[in-house]
Amino acid sequence: MIEFIDVEKIYGKDVKALQKINLKIEQGEFVAIIGLSGAGKSTLIRCINRMHDITSGKLLIDDVEVGDLKGKEVRHLRRRIGMIFQSFNLVTRTTVIKNVLVSFVPEIPVWRKITGIFSKENKIKALESLDKVGILDKAYVRVDQLSGGQQQRVALARTLAQDPAIILADEPIASLDPVTSKIVMNDFKKINQELQISVIMNIHHVEVALEYANRIIGINDGKIVYDGKASEVTQVILDEIYGGKMEEADPKVEEKLVDV
Ligand code: ADP
Repeated sequence: MIEFIDVEKIYGKDVKALQKINLKIEQGEFVAIIGLSGAGKSTLIRCINRMHDITSGKLLIDDVEVGDLKGKEVRHLRRRIGMIFQSFNLVTRTTVIKNVLVSFVPEIPVWRKITGIFSKENKIKALESLDKVGILDKAYVRVDQLSGGQQQRVALARTLAQDPAIILADEPIASLDPVTSKIVMNDFKKINQELQISVIMNIHHVEVALEYANRIIGINDGKIVYDGKASEVTQVILDEIYGGKMEEADPKVEEKLVDV
């Protein structure tokens, strides 16, 4: 479980990116974080795996205060929390399987790193992860020969190979076309439902957030202005999250809204 208690994040002297955030996210939830650019979505996600330190309050994961963790403990935390980026973060000039095997690097002995030998177990695990996202047949293809959607699935497989309890996804479909976005979102949904991995995702496309997430957290100017079921989001709620600028955020959303 992830718990934010009165969390604040201030950049520099006075950029209040997060203000008094109180949240509980149970294991296995699929949460979409929505809001205008600059609202604090990315900061909120990145505090969970200590990419950013919070300024005040408490952030607990399974009752352990994340801010108290040191060196090795932070690395351990990050192994339990996978992170997916908009830009995939892959080494494109090498094969898919090598990109997935990279997830084992922190735990293999130095001599193996130098010789580049991965164990049979590592390789099986990497192939299983590729199978889970439907691209096992691409294992020995170079990443730069894959489409954007396939590359995002490689990134997802790399994260799955580390057996995470939580996956944080920062705008994972922002650079994909609508059809490919759907395929990637279906992968997230499958992983969430079948493996009970929590998914916490920042997403710009409101209609996709409403379709796939069970819970929506709306942020405006560093504050949570909505936290509830995706099925209960109304136009009034979206106006509050987007300060009346929702058309700019996503013009296609109306068809996904509940009637009130
Ligand atoms: P979002 O993900 O919703 O676009 P961010 O979390 O990136 O929002 O940003 C929230 C606020 O914090 C913005 O005002 C942004 O300019 C500021 N901010 C984000 N990262 C940094 C940083 N590393 N240093 C200073 N200010 C930052």
